[in-house]
Amino acid sequence: MKKPIPFIDLAAQQARIRDRVEAAMRRTLDHGAYIMGPEIGELESGLAAFCGARHAVACSNGTDALALVLMAKGIGSGDAVFCPSFTFAATAEVVAWLGATPYFVDIEADTFNMDPASLVAAIGEARTAGLTPAGVIAVDLFGLPADYDRIEPVVAENGLWLLCDAAQGFGATYKDRKVGTIGMATTTSFFPAKPLGAYGDGGAVFTDDDEMAALLRSLLFHGKGDDRYDNVRIGMNGRLDSLQAGVLIEKLAIFPEEIEARNRIAARYSAGFSNLLVTPNVPNGSTSVWAQYTLRAPGRDRDAITAALKARGVPTAVYYPKPLHQQTAYRKFPVVGGSLPVSERAAGEVFSVPMHAYLDEETQDFIIDSVRSVLQDDG
Ligand SMILES: *Cc1c(COP(=O)(O)O)cnc(C)c1O
Repeated sequence: MKKPIPFIDLAAQQARIRDRVEAAMRRTLDHGAYIMGPEIGELESGLAAFCGARHAVACSNGTDALALVLMAKGIGSGDAVFCPSFTFAATAEVVAWLGATPYFVDIEADTFNMDPASLVAAIGEARTAGLTPAGVIAVDLFGLPADYDRIEPVVAENGLWLLCDAAQGFGATYKDRKVGTIGMATTTSFFPAKPLGAYGDGGAVFTDDDEMAALLRSLLFHGKGDDRYDNVRIGMNGRLDSLQAGVLIEKLAIFPEEIEARNRIAARYSAGFSNLLVTPNVPNGSTSVWAQYTLRAPGRDRDAITAALKARGVPTAVYYPKPLHQQTAYRKFPVVGGSLPVSERAAGEVFSVPMHAYLDEETQDFIIDSVRSVLQDDG
């Protein structure tokens, strides 16, 4: 291979849409409304139409999107919010920000997503410990929706709310439902490396609830009321800027095609790696948007495999080498049953290979062949 293989090829995508992005940026520079410009409303309409949500509220990033929803729900000290530990830190971080307790729940081995049985156990434990169960943050890890048909009844029976962290899952579907229309609200991130990424930070919240949407719009603008100089609640600066919205409008236009390409590439990987490694499982009725294509190498030296691949010019990444409950800042928070064996095991076995919509077959074949020969060398 002549050129280094990128893990995510943002340059190939940029080459495709560069003219349209430059034109969009020029429009913003011409009208000069850098904050709350016309791009914001246009993007929100496009996002809402894409997934079928009643409201899309654009905001500063995927972390703030989660925080805005939790602020809207008024969570605080004494409240427990149940979330996975095998996820990006932001999922639990926002709960702790607001003074509530992130309560860590285990995942299912075949999907890396929240285990509903572990959730049930955690809710009982939290009550016994004197916490008030408030809500659940389910994560659509690596682009695959969590098992909502099994999570929703648990949420309902316990009088909780469900927030879907779809920072990696926007664009996926769950049994005829599009991600963005499940739960009380869904958040996503437009970090550049996410399936739908901006050229900077960005995020959005989706909800069908008119009151929630209005509250979010106030909270992300310092708690503004109808009169912009009479702030009616404590909020934050959580706005998306017009330039990023303009970029995202162009990216959203090609997103459906890119999702198809990602699925084609994932299917080729799964064919190439079958009988060799544990390939990602997409349950019947779900589709993934493949934020990552994540393999498991049980019983093998994962770090030796990724090092040998690196030597051959194949980049890999480990999401996530340490579950949150084992990280310094999160060790003090409760963990159902005292440990999360499935999460801990996954953290030692997973690695992700290059995944993006512009991965050509020749490069992909080189990646597949490299993995196969590294594993054969490894015995
Ligand atoms: C990326 C990510 C976030 C945070 O999004 P930012 O835009 O980087 O703030 C939250 N949750 C998950 C699962 C993520 O992958």
